[in-house]
Amino acid sequence: MNGRVFQTAGTGLFLDELPGLYIHIPFCVRKCAYCGFYSVTDRSLIPDYLAALRREMALYREWAASFDTLYIGGGTPSVLPTEELEELITGIHGTFAISIDAEITVETNPADIDSGLLTALCHAGVNRLNIGIQSFDDGILAFLGRRHDQEQAVAAVKAARSAGIENIGIDLIYGIPGQDVDAWLATLRKAVALNPDHLSCYQLTLEEGTPLAKQFRRGEVVLPDDSLQADFFCNTSDFLEDNGYVHYEISNFARPGRESRHNRKYWNHAPYLGLGPAAHSFSGRERRWNRRAVNTYIDDLASGRTPVESTEILSDEQLRLEALFLGFRTRRGICLQTFKIRYGQDLLTDKRDWIERLSGEGLVEIRDGFLRPTRAGMAVADSLALI
Ligand code: SF4
Repeated sequence: MNGRVFQTAGTGLFLDELPGLYIHIPFCVRKCAYCGFYSVTDRSLIPDYLAALRREMALYREWAASFDTLYIGGGTPSVLPTEELEELITGIHGTFAISIDAEITVETNPADIDSGLLTALCHAGVNRLNIGIQSFDDGILAFLGRRHDQEQAVAAVKAARSAGIENIGIDLIYGIPGQDVDAWLATLRKAVALNPDHLSCYQLTLEEGTPLAKQFRRGEVVLPDDSLQADFFCNTSDFLEDNGYVHYEISNFARPGRESRHNRKYWNHAPYLGLGPAAHSFSGRERRWNRRAVNTYIDDLASGRTPVESTEILSDEQLRLEALFLGFRTRRGICLQTFKIRYGQDLLTDKRDWIERLSGEGLVEIRDGFLRPTRAGMAVADSLALI
């Protein structure tokens, strides 16, 4: 294991967990109406971008001795020409040591999935596909500005399964203007019929500057109120748990053993290296992030400059607060013993009043040495650490 990754807090942090590697592909065919993520539609930049990415990869060759997850996300990685994507994955393996049993995920759009892509991904050792389906309702897909329909979504999952991708996750969105809980459950039923290993169910949010936010401001669309949002959340949890999925994080559900190993690193406060524009890295004490613009990223690396925008060293208190904030997002919660070792605080002693208050309100419980959010607690997880 690489000392730089594991020595940072001086408290034996993360000795039990290898880091994850994230590679960002900031290209999309077109922008979806609701999306606030940074991505560009000028795909003529792809060759220069991939050359820049290779340069950045070389800079971090020694960052860790090995990684046990690789996540290629975006944007839309599947818009890369298939040979380029395969070459990129080969290049990653040539630069970094990726464990033999690593979870290797690629995000895809159903419209891009065909036998050529699937064969190439399997050949490159990809064992997990995340498919951005969002809905099985063609009206909603058109409203969101997606470039696939439900038929393509169903075909994509079936083709991935037939091609031998062993672990399939799908992304869905609820809380669309005009959608009621029954309509959402219809989408969930279609999703479950495809037997994915993993589902991410996100609440639609308004992102500044998007067409959806502008429509909202003009009064053309109305979003569900808090009470309806809570209904969506609880119905999603009930329905998917009844169908054998574990609600293991606010927005994430998995067949037992199929939780996203890569995303779990973020919630566990484990180290990760992120490469590409806007990508973040965390080494246990230090957080670093790259500039956002693709052009700047390409220019920086072509001129031998680092694309890092900023770095922050987290204080003990910041680390503790982050660990609580992240841990409360998960059903597993916070291991009290690990928290004490990593962050030097005995929550049961130091935060007794706070725990008793949250527990009295039915938001947390202590079970088997873990401080866990209840389902009601998970619904407000982002504020629990601050209450
Ligand atoms: S939602 Fe995904 S596909 Fe749509 S613009 Fe955003 S990153 Fe691209």
